[in-house]
Amino acid sequence: ASSGLIVSFGEMLIDFVPTVSGVSLAEAPGFIKAPGGAPANVAIAVSRIGGKAAFVGKLGDDEFGRMLAGILKENGVNGEGINFDEGARTALAFVTLRADGEREFMFYRNPSADMLLKPEELNLEVIRSAKIFHYGSISLIVEPCRSAHLKAMQEAKDAGALLSYDPNLRLPLWPSPEEAREQIMSIWEKADLIKVSDVELEFLTGSNKIDDAAAMSLWHPGLKLLLVTLGEDGCRYYTKNFHGSVEGFHVNTVDTTGAGDSFVGALLCQIVDNLSILEDEAKLREVLKFANACGAITTTKKGAIPALPKESEVLHLLNG
Ligand code: ADP
Repeated sequence: ASSGLIVSFGEMLIDFVPTVSGVSLAEAPGFIKAPGGAPANVAIAVSRIGGKAAFVGKLGDDEFGRMLAGILKENGVNGEGINFDEGARTALAFVTLRADGEREFMFYRNPSADMLLKPEELNLEVIRSAKIFHYGSISLIVEPCRSAHLKAMQEAKDAGALLSYDPNLRLPLWPSPEEAREQIMSIWEKADLIKVSDVELEFLTGSNKIDDAAAMSLWHPGLKLLLVTLGEDGCRYYTKNFHGSVEGFHVNTVDTTGAGDSFVGALLCQIVDNLSILEDEAKLREVLKFANACGAITTTKKGAIPALPKESEVLHLLNG
């Protein structure tokens, strides 16, 4: 358990997932609702393992928005920073993993409530009380929410929070790869903590050789910790003074959705009350082992939010 507030900022949405696996969206016989959105997943991940989390973002004033706010509340996430926009609709996504291994997406965001968040609507009280402010939105490019996002990050930093960043790259949502890279790097340069997947690192460096040199090529002077997640192989970590890797756990994986968010939530929760861990390699490795365990457990159940572990499950995997 931790007591410092982790504010996770961005979108919460509903994924509609086919009732059977391995079909295209057009072939799906039906869909089930799976609440998600990386920033919301992170907030719930923190809360499940005993941390203090708030979610800040905008939801539609519709059945889906109310359902999502209810899920945050049930999970103990502070929702004072949620805006409801009259007339705006909650973001929806239709998502499937086809038999050929390709992911197929269709978003309902034209525009959705999260994209309509305005800078003047931000709950600054919640944002300024963050010890760690986590940003992981997929909507960095769209106005008016882009201005709101930039303001929220600045307000949190000015109030003394660490800025944590997960680019959550969804290339099809960007006008061009160049623009995605440029905009992601503009946040990257301000972040204290960054988590990327190996695939994102490949994209950002433009090289398919993912090694320490590639990771370090994206280092910036203010950065305190860079994490590269490697799926079942765990993660690599880089700080100013040391770097290395921490092995993952072998589990019975059924669906990897939310693994990265679970990993981030666990990491933030473990360091929020003691940021000096970032300078202590042995302690940091313990934290990353815990975060790898959280990510691994999340892959053993379908969906993101239902699969996020409680602290007791994590301890069981670590000690079992
Ligand atoms: P993302 O979801 O952001 O793409 P990853 O898939 O690399 O990130 O997963 C994040 C973390 O979750 C990994 O670092 C690892 O600890 C854990 N994880 C992911 N997939 C698996 C898996 N198949 N088996 C065990 N652990 C996993």
